[in-house]
Amino acid sequence: MLKCPNCASKDIGKIGINQYYCWNCFIELSVGKGIINTHQVEEDGTLSSLDDLFEEELRRYTL
Ligand SMILES: [Zn+2]
Repeated sequence: MLKCPNCASKDIGKIGINQYYCWNCFIELSVGKGIINTHQVEEDGTLSSLDDLFEEELRRYTL
């Protein structure tokens, strides 16, 4: 079960292949190799990584 590393919400919407969006805290998640990568969408539309904010332990997921 995918859950948001930031807010632990399970209110996650799929927006693309291996790409998800947290409707609770509005960050974008992409998954690969068992790790969730987190991104924030900036006002100009670019993505900045939030991975530094989360321990790898928190970003690990199992299907
Ligand atoms: Zn969230």
